[in-house]
Amino acid sequence: MQNTNDKKDCGPCTACCDGWVKMNINGTLVYPGHPCPNITPKGCAIYASRPKLCADFNCSWLQNEINFPGWMRPDISRVIVKNLNWIKGKSILTAIPVGRTVPESALNYLKKISQNYSLPLLYFERIEDNGVYKTEMDVFGYGPKKVKNMLEKIRSTLEKCDQME
Ligand code: SF4
Ligand code: SF4
Repeated sequence: MQNTNDKKDCGPCTACCDGWVKMNINGTLVYPGHPCPNITPKGCAIYASRPKLCADFNCSWLQNEINFPGWMRPDISRVIVKNLNWIKGKSILTAIPVGRTVPESALNYLKKISQNYSLPLLYFERIEDNGVYKTEMDVFGYGPKKVKNMLEKIRSTLEKCDQME
């Protein structure tokens, strides 16, 4: 969220502030169609005093965890990727669409990453109701066989994944 680190900075990307990640910012719910009230064309209006949730949030592209290329920046690729700790400290990639679905090119790229690093991948699809996105999402799994067996467990923690805590 408008962070800068040694290797990358968010640049013009404001995907996580724009409502694509469900959050509660100082009592205001942020979700698709309801961006954070503090976002401006120049970035966060309260950057110096932004909530800890924001300061701590770094998507995988910004973290440069898997050396994601420039085109995978969330505002370009239309997907926010987060590497979450899963059972017994194992990592799992989660892919939140910036829009209704994760675009095919980005999804194919993430599937290759999943194969190369033996990382389970969860990717989400938004559900529309009369042209409005609901806050719940469908989830799909990709990766080792046991990912499919884990899916039910994963569904029960979707709320956590969605909030990217
Ligand atoms: S989605 Fe990632 S790159 Fe974009 S503003 Fe948030 S942290 Fe920065
Ligand atoms: S408070 Fe600032 S950094 Fe946090 S979501 Fe809002 S605009 Fe983004």
